[in-house]
Amino acid sequence: MSKVDTLLAEFEAVCKNPKKAMDDFKAKTGKGCIGVLPVYAPEEIVYATGYLPVGIWGGKKPISKAATYLPAFACSIMQSILEMEIDGTYDDLAAVVISSPCDTLKCFGQKWKGKSPVIQFVHSQNRDFEASNTFMTEEYKFVKTKLEKILGITITDEAINKAIDVYNENRAVMRMFCEVAAMYPQVFDPVKRHTVIKARQFMDKAEHTKKVKELITEVMKESVVPYKGKKIILTGIMAEPNELLDVFKEFDLAVVADDLAQESRQFRTDVPSGSDPLYRLAKQWQNVDGCSLATDRDKPRGQMLVEMAHKYGADAIIVCMMKFCDPEEFDYPIMLQQFEAAGIRNLKIEIDQQSDSMEQIRTRVQSFVEMM
Ligand code: SF4
Repeated sequence: MSKVDTLLAEFEAVCKNPKKAMDDFKAKTGKGCIGVLPVYAPEEIVYATGYLPVGIWGGKKPISKAATYLPAFACSIMQSILEMEIDGTYDDLAAVVISSPCDTLKCFGQKWKGKSPVIQFVHSQNRDFEASNTFMTEEYKFVKTKLEKILGITITDEAINKAIDVYNENRAVMRMFCEVAAMYPQVFDPVKRHTVIKARQFMDKAEHTKKVKELITEVMKESVVPYKGKKIILTGIMAEPNELLDVFKEFDLAVVADDLAQESRQFRTDVPSGSDPLYRLAKQWQNVDGCSLATDRDKPRGQMLVEMAHKYGADAIIVCMMKFCDPEEFDYPIMLQQFEAAGIRNLKIEIDQQSDSMEQIRTRVQSFVEMM
């Protein structure tokens, strides 16, 4: 097995068994884990506690009990998170941090009935002016104070600033990884690319950075060869389950860039420099661009994707529309107009984490590829 294969297998093992990754962390550090729900949360404050921030993005699970608390038209991520929460999957977590960027998440803290205490905070809607930063600093102060109370510790500014350094380095390395993955699509098929990115949700970011750096160094020893298939860009909340990515792979579609909330949106912008760590985190929210959850009246997302398509020589943009996600649905008609105006081929597919069959998507992707 080559070094690249070994590293990819390690990332895969983490994604397949996050519980083991969490247990290993506990055994190594004597500290527990803290859950972080989508999409944006001040993970650096969590990291500064010494606990492991763990991304909670749902998964494939039949829904039964969650239907008691959520309407049938709630997105499938939240349906599955709630189902697992009721099943006790998250009971080991020392706390759970929840932001409130959409209607489904706004009331999620109240629905959380498990053993882990909930810390819910709000993002400012209007991010254009300084009051937004003042507001967000206060919100993050609230998150910090609650964590201190739950864990019985003090979180210093120094610890948060250090955590920001660790996260900013991981973000820079992940941006580099995405560039490298675009150069070596024969190595990073859609599933493997996703696996490397997803593993950062369950690993200590410093450890993840180290392994991704190793991976990049190893891959770059290989020569770049022209890719025979088509190149695509993904946009949306997420491109899961893996069976969906397998369909792309089946038709030789290489993901050369993404604008997924679960992937690149997590590391597109760094936390800016400064001395007050909470203010720095607040400023980062102001810098978030082209995301359905971060209000921007100029609607730059479609144009951003068009430019991305030109930059990476992509043949098409695939919109991974999370079923029943209002913020994404509101963005779509504007994006579509911008794609059409720029002559960019595009396809919208529906994402449902609970879906058992990929046949409909396979047929649509197949026809789309044939048209290309
Ligand atoms: S997928 Fe959409 S609706 Fe669901 S929690 Fe995320 S933003 Fe909200």
